[in-house]
Amino acid sequence: DDARLAEELRRMDGSSYGRYKSLTGDWTFPDFTLTVERVQSDPFAPPSRVSVRIPADVVELPDDAWHAPVRRRATADYLVRRAHRELKGARLRIDAGGQEVLDRASCQIRDGDLHLRLGIEMPGHGRRIDGGTAERELCERLPDMVDALRWPEIDTAEAAAFADTVEDTCALRDRLEDLGLVAFAADGAVLPRRSGVSDLPMQGSAVPFRSPESLRVSVDLPHAGTVTGMGIAEGITLIVGGGFHGKSTLLHALERGAYDHVPGDGRELVVSRDDAVKIRAEEGRQVERTDISAFVRNLPTGADTADFSTENASGSTSQAANISEALEAGSRTLLIDEDTTATNLMIRDARMQRLVHGDREPLTPFVDLVRPLRRDHGVSTVLVMGGSGDYFDVADQIVMLDGYRPYDVTDSARELASERTDADFGAPADRVIDARSVDATARGKSRIKRRDMDVLTFGENDIDVRSLTQLVDPGQIIGVGLAMRRLAEDGLLGRHTLAEALDALEERLGDDGVTALGRGFAGDYVLPRRYEIAAALNRLRSLRVQR
Ligand code: ADP
Ligand code: MG
Repeated sequence: DDARLAEELRRMDGSSYGRYKSLTGDWTFPDFTLTVERVQSDPFAPPSRVSVRIPADVVELPDDAWHAPVRRRATADYLVRRAHRELKGARLRIDAGGQEVLDRASCQIRDGDLHLRLGIEMPGHGRRIDGGTAERELCERLPDMVDALRWPEIDTAEAAAFADTVEDTCALRDRLEDLGLVAFAADGAVLPRRSGVSDLPMQGSAVPFRSPESLRVSVDLPHAGTVTGMGIAEGITLIVGGGFHGKSTLLHALERGAYDHVPGDGRELVVSRDDAVKIRAEEGRQVERTDISAFVRNLPTGADTADFSTENASGSTSQAANISEALEAGSRTLLIDEDTTATNLMIRDARMQRLVHGDREPLTPFVDLVRPLRRDHGVSTVLVMGGSGDYFDVADQIVMLDGYRPYDVTDSARELASERTDADFGAPADRVIDARSVDATARGKSRIKRRDMDVLTFGENDIDVRSLTQLVDPGQIIGVGLAMRRLAEDGLLGRHTLAEALDALEERLGDDGVTALGRGFAGDYVLPRRYEIAAALNRLRSLRVQR
Protein backbone atom coordinates (compact mmCIF):
# COMPACT_ATOMS: atom_id res chain seq x y z
CA ASP A 1 0.00 0.00 0.00
CA ASP A 2 1.02 3.65 0.00
CA ALA A 3 2.85 3.48 3.31
CA ARG A 4 4.76 0.52 1.99
CA LEU A 5 5.72 2.42 -1.17
CA ALA A 6 6.95 5.40 0.84
CA GLU A 7 8.96 3.13 3.06
CA GLU A 8 10.37 1.28 0.07
CA LEU A 9 11.48 4.52 -1.57
CA ARG A 10 13.14 5.70 1.62
CA ARG A 11 14.96 2.40 1.90
CA MET A 12 16.13 2.64 -1.71
CA ASP A 13 17.58 6.12 -1.23
CA GLY A 14 21.22 6.23 -2.28
CA SER A 15 21.28 2.76 -3.80
CA SER A 16 21.97 2.14 -7.47
CA TYR A 17 19.45 3.51 -9.97
CA GLY A 18 18.64 0.07 -11.39
CA ARG A 19 16.87 -0.87 -8.17
CA TYR A 20 13.94 1.33 -9.20
CA LYS A 21 12.96 -1.59 -11.44
CA SER A 22 11.80 -3.48 -8.35
CA LEU A 23 8.90 -1.00 -8.04
CA THR A 24 7.20 -2.52 -11.09
CA GLY A 25 3.66 -3.64 -10.26
CA ASP A 26 0.63 -2.46 -8.32
CA TRP A 27 0.58 -0.18 -5.28
CA THR A 28 -2.69 0.34 -3.44
CA PHE A 29 -3.41 3.82 -2.14
CA PRO A 30 -6.49 4.64 -0.07
CA ASP A 31 -8.18 6.35 -3.05
CA PHE A 32 -6.57 4.74 -6.10
CA THR A 33 -4.30 2.07 -7.50
CA LEU A 34 -0.92 3.02 -8.88
CA THR A 35 0.66 0.62 -11.36
CA VAL A 36 4.31 1.07 -12.18
CA GLU A 37 4.32 -0.20 -15.74
CA ARG A 38 7.84 0.33 -16.96
CA VAL A 39 10.90 1.77 -15.24
CA GLN A 40 13.68 3.56 -17.07
CA SER A 41 17.08 1.89 -16.73
CA ASP A 42 19.04 5.10 -16.17
CA PRO A 43 18.27 8.76 -15.45
CA PHE A 44 18.78 9.75 -19.09
CA ALA A 45 16.48 7.15 -20.66
CA PRO A 46 12.91 8.07 -21.69
CA PRO A 47 10.69 8.62 -18.63
CA SER A 48 9.23 5.71 -16.70
CA ARG A 49 5.54 4.97 -17.19
CA VAL A 50 2.87 4.60 -14.55
CA SER A 51 -0.87 4.27 -14.64
CA VAL A 52 -3.49 5.20 -12.10
CA ARG A 53 -6.99 3.84 -11.66
CA ILE A 54 -9.36 5.93 -9.60
CA PRO A 55 -12.53 3.97 -8.89
CA ALA A 56 -15.95 5.40 -9.66
CA ASP A 57 -16.93 5.80 -6.00
CA VAL A 58 -13.91 8.07 -5.50
CA VAL A 59 -14.20 10.18 -8.68
CA GLU A 60 -17.96 10.45 -8.26
CA LEU A 61 -18.64 11.41 -11.86
CA PRO A 62 -22.34 12.07 -12.41
CA ASP A 63 -23.91 9.89 -15.12
CA ASP A 64 -24.45 12.94 -17.27
CA ALA A 65 -20.69 13.53 -17.43
CA TRP A 66 -19.78 10.23 -19.00
CA HIS A 67 -22.64 7.95 -20.12
CA ALA A 68 -22.86 9.37 -23.64
CA PRO A 69 -19.65 8.69 -25.61
CA VAL A 70 -19.27 12.33 -26.70
CA ARG A 71 -19.57 13.64 -23.14
CA ARG A 72 -17.28 10.88 -21.91
CA ARG A 73 -14.54 12.01 -24.26
CA ALA A 74 -15.12 15.65 -23.33
CA THR A 75 -15.11 15.03 -19.57
CA ALA A 76 -11.95 12.94 -19.82
CA ASP A 77 -10.35 15.73 -21.81
CA TYR A 78 -11.43 18.31 -19.25
CA LEU A 79 -10.05 16.24 -16.39
CA VAL A 80 -6.71 15.57 -18.05
CA ARG A 81 -6.20 19.30 -18.58
CA ARG A 82 -6.92 19.75 -14.90
CA ALA A 83 -4.44 16.98 -14.03
CA HIS A 84 -1.85 18.62 -16.25
CA ARG A 85 -2.27 21.91 -14.38
CA GLU A 86 -2.02 20.17 -11.01
CA LEU A 87 1.29 18.63 -12.03
CA LYS A 88 2.96 21.93 -12.98
CA GLY A 89 6.55 21.76 -11.78
CA ALA A 90 6.33 18.08 -10.91
CA ARG A 91 8.36 15.28 -12.44
CA LEU A 92 5.13 13.48 -13.16
CA ARG A 93 3.84 14.37 -16.64
CA ILE A 94 0.50 13.78 -18.21
CA ASP A 95 -0.31 14.27 -21.88
CA ALA A 96 -3.03 16.91 -22.29
CA GLY A 97 -4.26 18.52 -25.47
CA GLY A 98 -4.14 21.91 -27.16
CA GLN A 99 -7.16 23.53 -28.80
CA GLU A 100 -8.74 20.26 -29.92
CA VAL A 101 -10.68 17.80 -27.81
CA LEU A 102 -9.45 14.36 -28.80
CA ASP A 103 -9.67 10.78 -27.66
CA ARG A 104 -6.46 10.49 -25.66
CA ALA A 105 -4.87 7.44 -24.06
CA SER A 106 -3.62 9.47 -21.08
CA CYS A 107 -7.13 9.84 -19.66
CA GLN A 108 -10.04 7.51 -20.14
CA ILE A 109 -13.30 6.95 -18.34
CA ARG A 110 -14.40 3.32 -18.21
CA ASP A 111 -17.47 2.25 -16.24
CA GLY A 112 -17.18 5.48 -14.30
CA ASP A 113 -13.59 4.73 -13.22
CA LEU A 114 -10.90 7.16 -14.25
CA HIS A 115 -7.81 5.66 -15.87
CA LEU A 116 -4.74 7.88 -16.19
CA ARG A 117 -1.41 7.15 -17.83
CA LEU A 118 1.58 9.26 -16.89
CA GLY A 119 5.30 9.55 -17.39
CA ILE A 120 7.79 10.25 -14.62
CA GLU A 121 11.50 10.88 -14.67
CA MET A 122 12.57 8.86 -11.69
CA PRO A 123 14.85 11.14 -9.67
CA GLY A 124 18.49 10.36 -9.08
CA HIS A 125 21.65 11.85 -7.65
CA GLY A 126 23.81 10.84 -10.58
CA ARG A 127 23.26 7.11 -10.82
CA ARG A 128 21.99 6.79 -7.26
CA ILE A 129 18.34 6.76 -6.32
CA ASP A 130 16.93 9.97 -4.87
CA GLY A 131 14.36 8.29 -2.67
CA GLY A 132 13.14 11.46 -0.97
CA THR A 133 12.18 13.17 -4.22
CA ALA A 134 10.59 9.99 -5.55
CA GLU A 135 8.53 9.72 -2.40
CA ARG A 136 7.35 13.32 -2.71
CA GLU A 137 6.30 12.74 -6.32
CA LEU A 138 4.54 9.42 -5.93
CA CYS A 139 3.27 9.64 -2.39
CA GLU A 140 2.36 13.35 -2.18
CA ARG A 141 1.99 15.04 -5.55
CA LEU A 142 0.22 12.08 -7.12
CA PRO A 143 -2.39 11.66 -4.37
CA ASP A 144 -2.90 15.45 -4.37
CA MET A 145 -3.54 15.36 -8.10
CA VAL A 146 -5.95 12.45 -7.74
CA ASP A 147 -7.79 14.36 -5.07
CA ALA A 148 -8.05 17.42 -7.31
CA LEU A 149 -9.78 15.35 -10.01
CA ARG A 150 -12.63 14.20 -7.80
CA TRP A 151 -15.93 15.68 -8.99
CA PRO A 152 -16.67 17.36 -5.65
CA GLU A 153 -13.30 19.14 -5.94
CA ILE A 154 -13.63 20.52 -9.44
CA ASP A 155 -15.55 23.42 -10.94
CA THR A 156 -18.46 21.28 -12.01
CA ALA A 157 -20.22 24.08 -13.89
CA GLU A 158 -17.10 24.61 -15.99
CA ALA A 159 -16.74 20.87 -16.60
CA ALA A 160 -20.36 20.57 -17.67
CA ALA A 161 -20.04 23.60 -19.96
CA PHE A 162 -16.97 22.01 -21.53
CA ALA A 163 -18.93 18.84 -22.32
CA ASP A 164 -21.91 20.94 -23.53
CA THR A 165 -19.64 22.75 -25.98
CA VAL A 166 -18.26 19.53 -27.40
CA GLU A 167 -21.73 18.03 -27.58
CA ASP A 168 -22.98 21.07 -29.50
CA THR A 169 -20.08 20.85 -31.94
CA CYS A 170 -20.78 17.18 -32.59
CA ALA A 171 -24.50 17.82 -32.97
CA LEU A 172 -23.76 20.58 -35.47
CA ARG A 173 -21.41 18.36 -37.47
CA ASP A 174 -23.98 15.57 -37.42
CA ARG A 175 -26.57 17.92 -38.89
CA LEU A 176 -24.44 18.93 -41.88
CA GLU A 177 -25.47 16.05 -44.07
CA ASP A 178 -29.21 16.58 -43.57
CA LEU A 179 -28.78 20.25 -44.31
CA GLY A 180 -26.91 19.48 -47.52
CA LEU A 181 -23.81 21.21 -46.19
CA VAL A 182 -20.18 20.20 -46.05
CA ALA A 183 -19.21 22.91 -43.56
CA PHE A 184 -20.62 25.61 -41.33
CA ALA A 185 -19.05 28.67 -39.69
CA ALA A 186 -21.10 30.31 -36.96
CA ASP A 187 -21.67 34.02 -36.71
CA GLY A 188 -19.38 35.43 -34.06
CA ALA A 189 -16.72 32.75 -34.53
CA VAL A 190 -13.10 33.86 -34.27
CA LEU A 191 -11.08 32.17 -37.00
CA PRO A 192 -7.64 33.81 -37.00
CA ARG A 193 -4.96 32.49 -34.67
CA ARG A 194 -2.53 34.45 -32.54
CA SER A 195 0.43 33.70 -34.81
CA GLY A 196 1.77 31.20 -37.29
CA VAL A 197 3.08 29.13 -34.39
CA SER A 198 0.26 29.60 -31.90
CA ASP A 199 -3.08 27.91 -32.18
CA LEU A 200 -4.68 30.22 -29.63
CA PRO A 201 -7.34 32.65 -30.86
CA MET A 202 -6.21 36.07 -32.09
CA GLN A 203 -6.84 38.66 -29.45
CA GLY A 204 -8.25 42.14 -29.71
CA SER A 205 -8.17 42.94 -33.40
CA ALA A 206 -9.89 39.79 -34.67
CA VAL A 207 -12.94 40.49 -36.85
CA PRO A 208 -15.65 38.03 -35.80
CA PHE A 209 -17.19 35.94 -38.54
CA ARG A 210 -20.49 37.16 -40.00
CA SER A 211 -22.42 35.20 -42.58
CA PRO A 212 -23.78 36.79 -45.75
CA GLU A 213 -27.56 36.72 -45.64
CA SER A 214 -28.02 34.55 -48.72
CA LEU A 215 -25.85 31.80 -47.26
CA ARG A 216 -27.17 32.10 -43.73
CA VAL A 217 -28.39 28.90 -42.12
CA SER A 218 -29.79 28.47 -38.65
CA VAL A 219 -29.42 25.30 -36.63
CA ASP A 220 -30.85 24.26 -33.28
CA LEU A 221 -28.28 22.85 -30.90
CA PRO A 222 -28.88 20.99 -27.64
CA HIS A 223 -27.22 23.60 -25.40
CA ALA A 224 -26.50 26.77 -27.37
CA GLY A 225 -30.06 26.85 -28.78
CA THR A 226 -30.49 28.38 -32.22
CA VAL A 227 -27.28 29.48 -33.89
CA THR A 228 -26.82 31.12 -37.27
CA GLY A 229 -23.87 31.07 -39.58
CA MET A 230 -22.63 30.50 -43.09
CA GLY A 231 -23.47 27.14 -44.58
CA ILE A 232 -21.13 25.82 -47.22
CA ALA A 233 -23.29 23.64 -49.41
CA GLU A 234 -22.34 20.37 -51.03
CA GLY A 235 -20.89 20.90 -54.47
CA ILE A 236 -18.16 23.24 -55.54
CA THR A 237 -17.49 26.28 -53.41
CA LEU A 238 -15.00 28.87 -54.48
CA ILE A 239 -13.51 31.29 -51.99
CA VAL A 240 -12.12 34.39 -53.65
CA GLY A 241 -10.90 37.79 -52.53
CA GLY A 242 -7.82 39.95 -52.47
CA GLY A 243 -4.60 38.88 -50.82
CA PHE A 244 -4.62 39.18 -47.03
CA HIS A 245 -8.41 39.24 -46.78
CA GLY A 246 -8.66 36.02 -44.78
CA LYS A 247 -9.15 33.25 -47.34
CA SER A 248 -6.55 30.86 -46.01
CA THR A 249 -7.62 31.56 -42.45
CA LEU A 250 -11.14 30.43 -43.30
CA LEU A 251 -9.88 27.29 -45.03
CA HIS A 252 -7.60 26.44 -42.10
CA ALA A 253 -10.56 26.73 -39.77
CA LEU A 254 -12.47 24.31 -42.01
CA GLU A 255 -9.53 21.87 -41.97
CA ARG A 256 -9.66 21.89 -38.21
CA GLY A 257 -13.45 21.77 -38.33
CA ALA A 258 -13.25 18.00 -38.53
CA TYR A 259 -12.24 18.20 -34.85
CA ASP A 260 -13.93 19.60 -31.74
CA HIS A 261 -12.47 22.62 -29.98
CA VAL A 262 -12.24 23.73 -26.39
CA PRO A 263 -14.54 26.48 -25.09
CA GLY A 264 -13.02 29.88 -25.81
CA ASP A 265 -11.17 28.70 -28.91
CA GLY A 266 -13.37 30.78 -31.21
CA ARG A 267 -13.95 27.85 -33.59
CA GLU A 268 -16.27 25.80 -31.38
CA LEU A 269 -19.03 26.16 -33.95
CA VAL A 270 -16.91 26.02 -37.09
CA VAL A 271 -17.31 22.50 -38.37
CA SER A 272 -16.76 20.48 -41.47
CA ARG A 273 -17.78 16.97 -42.41
CA ASP A 274 -15.61 14.45 -40.68
CA ASP A 275 -14.37 13.21 -44.05
CA ALA A 276 -12.92 16.60 -45.00
CA VAL A 277 -9.36 16.24 -46.24
CA LYS A 278 -6.93 19.02 -47.05
CA ILE A 279 -5.28 18.48 -50.40
CA ARG A 280 -1.95 20.02 -51.25
CA ALA A 281 1.06 19.61 -53.46
CA GLU A 282 3.88 17.71 -51.83
CA GLU A 283 6.88 17.64 -54.07
CA GLY A 284 9.29 14.81 -53.31
CA ARG A 285 6.90 12.33 -51.73
CA GLN A 286 6.91 8.79 -52.98
CA VAL A 287 3.88 7.27 -54.65
CA GLU A 288 3.22 3.53 -54.72
CA ARG A 289 1.01 2.27 -57.54
CA THR A 290 -1.64 4.96 -57.34
CA ASP A 291 -4.05 5.69 -60.18
CA ILE A 292 -3.56 9.30 -61.19
CA SER A 293 -4.63 8.80 -64.81
CA ALA A 294 -7.54 11.24 -64.54
CA PHE A 295 -5.03 14.03 -63.96
CA VAL A 296 -1.94 12.83 -65.77
CA ARG A 297 -1.60 11.00 -69.07
CA ASN A 298 1.14 10.55 -71.63
CA LEU A 299 4.10 11.43 -69.47
CA PRO A 300 7.28 11.97 -71.51
CA THR A 301 8.72 8.96 -69.64
CA GLY A 302 5.92 6.71 -70.92
CA ALA A 303 5.01 5.72 -67.35
CA ASP A 304 1.58 4.13 -66.82
CA THR A 305 -0.29 6.74 -64.82
CA ALA A 306 -3.14 4.37 -63.96
CA ASP A 307 -0.59 2.44 -61.92
CA PHE A 308 1.85 5.13 -61.06
CA SER A 309 4.87 4.82 -58.79
CA THR A 310 7.69 7.21 -58.08
CA GLU A 311 10.26 7.84 -55.40
CA ASN A 312 10.14 11.55 -56.04
CA ALA A 313 6.87 13.04 -57.23
CA SER A 314 6.59 16.46 -58.83
CA GLY A 315 4.30 19.10 -57.39
CA SER A 316 1.47 18.20 -59.76
CA THR A 317 1.78 14.39 -59.60
CA SER A 318 2.02 14.52 -55.80
CA GLN A 319 -1.15 16.57 -55.62
CA ALA A 320 -2.91 14.24 -58.04
CA ALA A 321 -1.87 11.26 -55.90
CA ASN A 322 -3.06 13.05 -52.77
CA ILE A 323 -6.50 13.48 -54.31
CA SER A 324 -6.76 9.87 -55.53
CA GLU A 325 -5.63 8.54 -52.17
CA ALA A 326 -8.02 10.73 -50.19
CA LEU A 327 -10.89 9.40 -52.29
CA GLU A 328 -9.63 5.85 -51.89
CA ALA A 329 -9.63 6.28 -48.09
CA GLY A 330 -13.26 7.39 -48.33
CA SER A 331 -13.21 11.18 -48.33
CA ARG A 332 -15.88 12.99 -50.30
CA THR A 333 -14.95 16.49 -49.11
CA LEU A 334 -11.79 18.12 -50.42
CA LEU A 335 -10.30 21.35 -49.10
CA ILE A 336 -7.78 23.10 -51.34
CA ASP A 337 -5.86 26.37 -50.96
CA GLU A 338 -4.08 28.03 -53.87
CA ASP A 339 -1.19 28.81 -51.49
CA THR A 340 -0.21 25.14 -51.34
CA THR A 341 -1.18 23.80 -54.75
CA ALA A 342 0.67 23.06 -57.95
CA THR A 343 -0.61 25.80 -60.27
CA ASN A 344 -0.28 23.66 -63.38
CA LEU A 345 -2.58 21.04 -61.85
CA MET A 346 -5.20 23.65 -60.95
CA ILE A 347 -5.56 25.86 -64.01
CA ARG A 348 -4.55 26.31 -67.63
CA ASP A 349 -5.56 29.58 -69.20
CA ALA A 350 -6.58 30.07 -72.80
CA ARG A 351 -3.28 31.55 -73.92
CA MET A 352 -1.31 28.64 -72.52
CA GLN A 353 -3.68 26.23 -74.23
CA ARG A 354 -3.01 27.95 -77.55
CA LEU A 355 0.75 27.74 -77.05
CA VAL A 356 1.00 24.19 -75.66
CA HIS A 357 -1.46 21.93 -77.44
CA GLY A 358 -3.50 19.29 -75.66
CA ASP A 359 -1.48 16.35 -76.95
CA ARG A 360 1.77 17.82 -75.58
CA GLU A 361 0.33 18.51 -72.15
CA PRO A 362 0.09 15.49 -69.85
CA LEU A 363 -1.97 17.29 -67.21
CA THR A 364 -5.72 17.64 -67.09
CA PRO A 365 -6.27 20.56 -64.77
CA PHE A 366 -8.48 20.13 -61.72
CA VAL A 367 -10.84 22.77 -63.08
CA ASP A 368 -11.90 20.26 -65.78
CA LEU A 369 -12.32 17.45 -63.23
CA VAL A 370 -13.99 19.12 -60.29
CA ARG A 371 -17.49 18.86 -61.82
CA PRO A 372 -17.15 15.20 -62.90
CA LEU A 373 -15.90 14.46 -59.40
CA ARG A 374 -19.06 15.99 -58.01
CA ARG A 375 -21.46 14.54 -60.56
CA ASP A 376 -20.08 11.01 -60.81
CA HIS A 377 -18.54 10.48 -57.38
CA GLY A 378 -20.37 12.81 -55.02
CA VAL A 379 -17.21 14.70 -54.11
CA SER A 380 -17.55 18.26 -52.83
CA THR A 381 -14.69 20.72 -53.08
CA VAL A 382 -14.02 23.91 -51.15
CA LEU A 383 -11.36 25.81 -53.01
CA VAL A 384 -9.52 29.03 -52.21
CA MET A 385 -8.48 30.72 -55.43
CA GLY A 386 -7.82 34.42 -55.51
CA GLY A 387 -5.48 34.42 -58.49
CA SER A 388 -7.62 33.11 -61.34
CA GLY A 389 -11.22 33.39 -62.50
CA ASP A 390 -11.18 30.01 -64.23
CA TYR A 391 -13.20 28.38 -61.48
CA PHE A 392 -16.09 30.84 -61.97
CA ASP A 393 -17.16 28.49 -64.75
CA VAL A 394 -17.55 25.47 -62.50
CA ALA A 395 -18.40 26.76 -59.03
CA ASP A 396 -21.85 26.24 -57.53
CA GLN A 397 -21.30 29.06 -55.07
CA ILE A 398 -18.71 31.77 -54.82
CA VAL A 399 -17.83 33.52 -51.59
CA MET A 400 -15.71 36.63 -51.58
CA LEU A 401 -13.81 37.63 -48.49
CA ASP A 402 -13.41 41.35 -48.12
CA GLY A 403 -11.82 42.66 -44.96
CA TYR A 404 -12.39 39.21 -43.38
CA ARG A 405 -16.13 39.42 -44.14
CA PRO A 406 -17.68 36.88 -46.51
CA TYR A 407 -20.00 38.05 -49.31
CA ASP A 408 -22.00 35.88 -51.68
CA VAL A 409 -20.80 36.89 -55.15
CA THR A 410 -22.09 33.85 -57.00
CA ASP A 411 -24.33 35.83 -59.35
CA SER A 412 -21.89 38.55 -60.32
CA ALA A 413 -19.06 36.07 -60.83
CA ARG A 414 -21.33 33.90 -62.98
CA GLU A 415 -21.76 36.77 -65.39
CA LEU A 416 -18.04 36.57 -66.00
CA ALA A 417 -18.07 32.80 -66.48
CA SER A 418 -17.71 31.02 -69.79
CA GLU A 419 -18.50 27.59 -71.15
CA ARG A 420 -16.16 24.79 -70.25
CA THR A 421 -15.92 21.21 -71.39
CA ASP A 422 -15.36 18.78 -68.57
CA ALA A 423 -12.95 15.87 -68.68
CA ASP A 424 -13.82 12.43 -67.28
CA PHE A 425 -12.97 11.23 -63.83
CA GLY A 426 -12.94 7.43 -63.71
CA ALA A 427 -13.03 5.95 -60.21
CA PRO A 428 -9.42 5.33 -59.12
CA ALA A 429 -8.55 1.66 -58.64
CA ASP A 430 -8.83 0.26 -55.10
CA ARG A 431 -5.49 -1.02 -53.94
CA VAL A 432 -4.71 -4.01 -51.75
CA ILE A 433 -1.64 -3.44 -49.63
CA ASP A 434 0.92 -6.16 -49.06
CA ALA A 435 0.80 -6.61 -45.27
CA ARG A 436 4.45 -7.68 -45.12
CA SER A 437 5.50 -4.28 -46.42
CA VAL A 438 3.98 -2.63 -43.33
CA ASP A 439 6.30 -3.76 -40.57
CA ALA A 440 6.60 -1.94 -37.25
CA THR A 441 9.65 -3.89 -36.11
CA ALA A 442 13.25 -2.82 -36.16
CA ARG A 443 15.91 -5.23 -34.92
CA GLY A 444 13.27 -7.62 -33.68
CA LYS A 445 11.40 -5.05 -31.59
CA SER A 446 8.39 -2.91 -32.32
CA ARG A 447 9.45 0.69 -32.92
CA ILE A 448 6.89 3.48 -33.19
CA LYS A 449 8.27 6.91 -32.39
CA ARG A 450 7.91 10.46 -33.57
CA ARG A 451 10.13 13.45 -34.04
CA ASP A 452 8.18 16.62 -33.23
CA MET A 453 5.28 16.96 -35.67
CA ASP A 454 7.54 16.05 -38.59
CA VAL A 455 8.43 12.39 -38.66
CA LEU A 456 6.81 9.12 -37.69
CA THR A 457 9.37 6.38 -37.23
CA PHE A 458 7.72 3.09 -38.05
CA GLY A 459 10.00 0.08 -37.76
CA GLU A 460 12.94 0.73 -40.07
CA ASN A 461 11.23 3.61 -41.87
CA ASP A 462 10.90 7.31 -41.28
CA ILE A 463 7.65 8.72 -42.62
CA ASP A 464 7.56 12.41 -43.44
CA VAL A 465 4.23 13.68 -42.09
CA ARG A 466 4.88 17.41 -42.34
CA SER A 467 2.36 17.85 -45.14
CA LEU A 468 -0.43 16.18 -43.20
CA THR A 469 -1.78 19.38 -41.75
CA GLN A 470 -4.79 17.66 -40.23
CA LEU A 471 -2.53 15.87 -37.80
CA VAL A 472 -3.13 18.39 -35.05
CA ASP A 473 -1.64 16.71 -32.00
CA PRO A 474 1.69 14.92 -31.48
CA GLY A 475 -0.16 11.98 -29.98
CA GLN A 476 -2.02 11.43 -33.24
CA ILE A 477 1.27 10.70 -34.98
CA ILE A 478 1.91 7.82 -32.58
CA GLY A 479 -1.75 6.85 -32.95
CA VAL A 480 -1.25 6.62 -36.71
CA GLY A 481 1.75 4.33 -36.19
CA LEU A 482 -0.22 2.12 -33.82
CA ALA A 483 -3.10 1.95 -36.30
CA MET A 484 -0.73 0.97 -39.10
CA ARG A 485 0.72 -1.76 -36.92
CA ARG A 486 -2.76 -2.95 -36.04
CA LEU A 487 -3.80 -3.06 -39.71
CA ALA A 488 -0.79 -5.22 -40.55
CA GLU A 489 -0.76 -7.46 -37.47
CA ASP A 490 -4.50 -8.12 -37.49
CA GLY A 491 -4.25 -9.25 -41.09
CA LEU A 492 -6.60 -6.51 -42.30
CA LEU A 493 -4.26 -5.55 -45.12
CA GLY A 494 -3.62 -8.06 -47.86
CA ARG A 495 -7.07 -9.61 -47.65
CA HIS A 496 -9.00 -6.38 -48.08
CA THR A 497 -8.74 -3.21 -50.09
CA LEU A 498 -7.27 -0.34 -48.13
CA ALA A 499 -10.71 1.24 -47.64
CA GLU A 500 -12.16 -2.03 -46.35
CA ALA A 501 -9.20 -2.48 -44.03
CA LEU A 502 -9.80 1.00 -42.58
CA ASP A 503 -13.50 0.19 -42.14
CA ALA A 504 -12.60 -3.02 -40.34
CA LEU A 505 -10.17 -1.20 -38.07
CA GLU A 506 -12.77 1.41 -37.16
CA GLU A 507 -15.21 -1.35 -36.39
CA ARG A 508 -12.73 -3.12 -34.13
CA LEU A 509 -11.96 0.04 -32.22
CA GLY A 510 -15.68 0.69 -31.85
CA ASP A 511 -16.70 2.56 -28.74
CA ASP A 512 -13.43 1.72 -26.98
CA GLY A 513 -11.69 4.14 -29.31
CA VAL A 514 -8.14 4.94 -28.53
CA THR A 515 -7.65 2.43 -25.73
CA ALA A 516 -8.28 -0.43 -28.14
CA LEU A 517 -5.51 0.90 -30.37
CA GLY A 518 -2.53 0.74 -28.04
CA ARG A 519 -2.21 -2.91 -27.03
CA GLY A 520 0.31 -2.42 -24.27
CA PHE A 521 2.06 0.51 -25.93
CA ALA A 522 3.74 2.36 -23.09
CA GLY A 523 3.76 5.96 -24.34
CA ASP A 524 1.15 8.63 -25.02
CA TYR A 525 -1.09 8.50 -28.05
CA VAL A 526 -4.30 9.90 -29.48
CA LEU A 527 -6.92 8.48 -31.81
CA PRO A 528 -6.20 9.57 -35.40
CA ARG A 529 -8.61 9.82 -38.34
CA ARG A 530 -8.65 7.17 -41.04
CA TYR A 531 -7.49 9.72 -43.62
CA GLU A 532 -4.25 10.39 -41.79
CA ILE A 533 -3.70 6.65 -41.23
CA ALA A 534 -4.05 6.11 -44.98
CA ALA A 535 -1.90 9.12 -45.75
CA ALA A 536 0.94 7.90 -43.54
CA LEU A 537 0.73 4.42 -45.07
CA ASN A 538 0.98 5.97 -48.50
CA ARG A 539 4.15 7.75 -47.44
CA LEU A 540 5.79 4.64 -45.98
CA ARG A 541 8.77 4.01 -48.23
CA SER A 542 8.59 0.24 -47.79
CA LEU A 543 4.91 0.11 -48.86
CA ARG A 544 4.07 -2.40 -51.59
CA VAL A 545 0.75 -2.80 -53.30
CA GLN A 546 -0.51 -6.15 -54.53
CA ARG A 547 -3.06 -6.54 -57.29
P1 ADP B 1 -5.37 35.38 -47.65
O1 ADP B 1 -5.29 33.90 -47.70
O2 ADP B 1 -6.67 35.91 -48.15
O3 ADP B 1 -4.22 36.05 -48.31
P2 ADP B 1 -4.98 35.08 -44.80
O4 ADP B 1 -6.07 34.16 -44.41
O5 ADP B 1 -3.61 34.49 -44.90
O6 ADP B 1 -5.32 35.86 -46.14
O7 ADP B 1 -5.00 36.24 -43.73
C1 ADP B 1 -4.11 37.32 -43.78
C2 ADP B 1 -3.88 37.88 -42.38
O8 ADP B 1 -5.09 38.36 -41.84
C3 ADP B 1 -3.36 36.83 -41.41
O9 ADP B 1 -2.32 37.40 -40.64
C4 ADP B 1 -4.55 36.50 -40.55
O10 ADP B 1 -4.17 36.14 -39.25
C5 ADP B 1 -5.33 37.80 -40.56
N1 ADP B 1 -6.76 37.55 -40.41
C6 ADP B 1 -7.48 36.60 -41.04
N2 ADP B 1 -8.78 36.63 -40.68
C7 ADP B 1 -8.88 37.64 -39.77
C8 ADP B 1 -9.96 38.17 -39.01
N3 ADP B 1 -11.19 37.67 -39.12
N4 ADP B 1 -9.71 39.19 -38.18
C9 ADP B 1 -8.45 39.70 -38.07
N5 ADP B 1 -7.41 39.24 -38.76
C10 ADP B 1 -7.60 38.23 -39.61
MG1 MG C 1 -3.88 32.64 -48.61
